[in-house]
Amino acid sequence: MRPPILNPLFASVTSLQGVGPKQDKLFRYLLDRSDTPRLVDLLLHLPSNVIDRRRRPTIAEAAGLIGQVVTLRVTVERHKSPPPGRSRAPYVVTAGDDTGTVLLTFFRAKPDYIEKLLPMGETRYVSGVAQMFDGALQIVHPDRVVDEDGFARLPQIDAVYPLTEGLAVGSIRRAMVQALAKLPPLPEWISPEVMRRCKFPSMSEALHRVHEPGEPADILPQNPFWSRLAFDELLAGQLALALVRAQLRRPAGVRNAGDGHLRHRIIDALPYALTTSQQDAAQAIAGDLAQPLRMLRLLQGDVGSGKTVVALLAAAAVAETGRQAALMAPTEILARQHIKTIAPLAERAGMRVAILTGREKGKERRDIVARLASGEIDLLVGTHALIQDDVVFKALALAIVDEQHRFGVRERLALTEKGDAVDVLVLSATPIPRTLVLTYFGDMDISELREKPAGRQPIDTRAIPKSRIAEIVDGLQRALDAGKRAYWICPLVDESDAEGVEHLTNATQRFKTLQKRFGDRVGLVHGQMKGADKDRVMAQFAAGDIQLLVATTVVEVGVDVPQATIMVIENAERFGLAQLHQLRGRIGRGSEASTCLLLYHEPLTEMSAARLKVIRETTDGFRIAEEDLRLRGEGEVLGTRQSGLPGYRIARPEVHAQLIAQARDEAVRVMQDNPTLKGERGEALRCLLYLYERDEAIPLIGAG
Ligand code: ADP
Ligand code: MG
Repeated sequence: MRPPILNPLFASVTSLQGVGPKQDKLFRYLLDRSDTPRLVDLLLHLPSNVIDRRRRPTIAEAAGLIGQVVTLRVTVERHKSPPPGRSRAPYVVTAGDDTGTVLLTFFRAKPDYIEKLLPMGETRYVSGVAQMFDGALQIVHPDRVVDEDGFARLPQIDAVYPLTEGLAVGSIRRAMVQALAKLPPLPEWISPEVMRRCKFPSMSEALHRVHEPGEPADILPQNPFWSRLAFDELLAGQLALALVRAQLRRPAGVRNAGDGHLRHRIIDALPYALTTSQQDAAQAIAGDLAQPLRMLRLLQGDVGSGKTVVALLAAAAVAETGRQAALMAPTEILARQHIKTIAPLAERAGMRVAILTGREKGKERRDIVARLASGEIDLLVGTHALIQDDVVFKALALAIVDEQHRFGVRERLALTEKGDAVDVLVLSATPIPRTLVLTYFGDMDISELREKPAGRQPIDTRAIPKSRIAEIVDGLQRALDAGKRAYWICPLVDESDAEGVEHLTNATQRFKTLQKRFGDRVGLVHGQMKGADKDRVMAQFAAGDIQLLVATTVVEVGVDVPQATIMVIENAERFGLAQLHQLRGRIGRGSEASTCLLLYHEPLTEMSAARLKVIRETTDGFRIAEEDLRLRGEGEVLGTRQSGLPGYRIARPEVHAQLIAQARDEAVRVMQDNPTLKGERGEALRCLLYLYERDEAIPLIGAG
């Protein structure tokens, strides 16, 4: 049960004044929620900038401050409403001071409203982002317009928030003020030692100061207010992981590794030799399985580093004892890829494997479920379908979870709960620096596959401006004529999505243009396609019936067509480093040399240029991950703030890296001193778990 003291924070934003059903949608979008956001969600939406009214440039000076928020004192000179019948044209007010004029531009505005807001001949203070339009200074939808009296009453510094179209900063601010007023007196969940050492304010003070800053610096992530909130978020995450881990680590008393007969047969059936790191990983896993403690191990390795066969060997070890294993992947494509690698090897070793996804239905599904329950399946590969209630194992002993951070606590546990004291092996194709492993996975034993399997060809990676696309297509023609296979990756964003992204190419559009040139040698896959359609196109590409595959990032994980040797990534500047690396991992898998072309839209920001440089220079995923972290640190300095860790809204790896370890230590201390979260502090920690939506871990708190 949620502590009642939190109730005011879990009221929906629509309970606030000025937030109606129409804003509900906008707030959902803004706060990235599928249902109506609560006040806590709003309060944790932190400012991206401030308006500092202590600095008041003239219009001439403001022309040198393009892109920044400025506050101007102006006299209203002219009103120009849109011509009749052109309601999409803006309403423009011209205003001036001694040094020049500024255009105040309003879209879809009611003329009466603007006339009242900015009466002719009067003096007003206006704030907003300075822009240049047709050689004139312009402010679109000034965020404050007030007279002398109003200005005297305005806070000197105002928070500015990341926005969504249709929701003005004023609406967010008005909602925020009301939400702040509803903050209940919260108990402190952070230990006094950490509070002292980190000089943290209370949560309430932190929220007040970031939303109502006294100094521009109050909103910076590295300062105590934001850091306090980041620590809370990290602590909630670490505590949830610690609770999961405590649950998983309960002594098992079962030894799950057999005599090795299946593993030997699999290794004999392999058309290649295992790399040293594969051997080491397999051995570490077998060692864990042989212990009467539960295994909790992370197997990290780049795309193509050969994790699947290591996972299969783990499954074989438990199959040798007559027990079962499950391998859960986040997508259907990935699950099918695994079974494709696994099935032939398992068959030759005499291991029984099957696949279960949303696509196995009716009799086929009933058959699989029945064979599983009677122990006729040794390893079941699949998607979320594996955790459905009626999927019952005879004796599940090992849960292998691929790409775990895409799964929530509930899903992870649901699989392990289908057996007694199930051992857990997590596969991750995203090499993560060790400092961050903690954040995603908590405390786990780690095996890394750092070597690439023998025979891998290097990939020649080049960055090319998009203006040279015609040359690229000509080159592609020659390659296709020579029988080669290529991917053409487009960003996901649709052209119609937002202004300012017109240059993004939608995969469908690109498919059409390429089809005009290459005819039925071109295929298309994207996320909106049905599973069966996707697979059909992928199969055609694998068979070579299609030579050029236009795709969105659905090919990012798992797709394995070793004959593909070319990858074009369009608008490569839009992709993150990790994603580019994952995408590129689709080529360079066969025996032929591969080429990756990063098409970028000019001009490149400093940050994008640096990212593309890293990708050109190395294919080592661990190095790329470290560079990513370093660049994001610089990104802060360059002013291109990036969003934080996936699954974390407030903590930023580049700013709060040290807090991760401290939050972990704090969680460990809690688990030692008060694992059942009792007493005042325990109650406070439960509040924390609810506020940061880690409360799914609460049922795991031991009975004590
Ligand atoms: P990952 O899951 O780590 O991305 P996979 O397990 O899918 O990688 O392996 C990629 C490819 O490499 C597969 O075709 C697999 O058969 C092959 N492979 C795995 N290990 C080796 C090895 N030691 N030597 C050569 N090829 C290997
Ligand atoms: Mg794989």
